Amino acid sequence: MTTPQRVGCACGRVTLEVDGPHIASVECLCDSCRKAGDVMMTLPKAPRIVDEKGATPFVMHRKDRVRFLTGADQLREYRLSSDAGTRRVIASCCNTPVFMEMKGGHWLSLYGQLWPEDALPKLEMRTMTGDLASAEGLPNDVPNLKQHSLSFYARLFGAWVKMGFRNPKIVVGGDLHV
Ligand SMILES: [Zn+2]
Ligand SMILES: [Zn+2]
Repeated sequence: MTTPQRVGCACGRVTLEVDGPHIASVECLCDSCRKAGDVMMTLPKAPRIVDEKGATPFVMHRKDRVRFLTGADQLREYRLSSDAGTRRVIASCCNTPVFMEMKGGHWLSLYGQLWPEDALPKLEMRTMTGDLASAEGLPNDVPNLKQHSLSFYARLFGAWVKMGFRNPKIVVGGDLHV
């Protein structure tokens, strides 16, 4: 998809625009995403974040192609530990998960829950399935990668090259207390 798309939280206060093609549409099966998702799902009105397979849907976009239109003051960040380099950010108005950001990363992994179900970009791969006790129950509709593949990193790196190796900073409204 190359035209700007508008997505947002369930209640509509937080809206953002994503432009240009996404880097990848994935489901992450790693321990951290499952752990964080389980915590965030306990918040009032939070949607389902981790599905029955243990998967969290993400659409990865270049940071310079994600623009917060409204509600940035509603954003709260959550880290699995105080020294964790990765933060997950939710819309505190309705507890919709918004994005995951790795320290130093030039991309945002936007939570699939921001998209209406029928508009979510088509799933391309599952990552980190090696973290599951057993990956046998996973469907074979897309590649199930034990970790991140070389081509996955190549896509990320290619996006960073196009960004001129910049790393825009995303400011949120504060910490999430759970
Ligand atoms: Zn909301
Ligand atoms: Zn993960």
